[in-house]
Amino acid sequence: MCIFCKIVNGEIPSNKVLESEDALAFHDINPKAPIHVLVIPKEHVESFHQVTPDIMAKLTPFIQEVAKKLCIDKSGYRIVTNIGKEGGQEVPHLHFHILGGAPLVWDHRSADPHKNI
Ligand code: AMP
Repeated sequence: MCIFCKIVNGEIPSNKVLESEDALAFHDINPKAPIHVLVIPKEHVESFHQVTPDIMAKLTPFIQEVAKKLCIDKSGYRIVTNIGKEGGQEVPHLHFHILGGAPLVWDHRSADPHKNI
């Protein structure tokens, strides 16, 4: 069972922000912005590339509600989802990073310095 499925079923603790029947939001253990929350579907889906429109239809308003609860809906925020190896995905369970709480820089350099443009 993947680490985020273990968070869903309570085997691993998390710092919860919001929960619905289908989704869970919790603070990232290694925050990369003043606010860094992960939103996951409770159902195991490997990445955005495998997600169905039905699950996305539930996740979209949930993410908006999380942003409101974090009071970043008006100041602005970023949603990131990493997909697969070159996308930088470490946990193979679909998750949306919600980043905010400060003006964010835009930087998508490659980890391989030879591949930077
Ligand atoms: P990604 O690289 O897109 O797969 O992101 C995985 C994210 O999960 C990273 O930002 C990690 O810091 C975060 N993470 C891993 N384990 C946990 C955990 N137990 N609780 C909260 N966040 C976690």
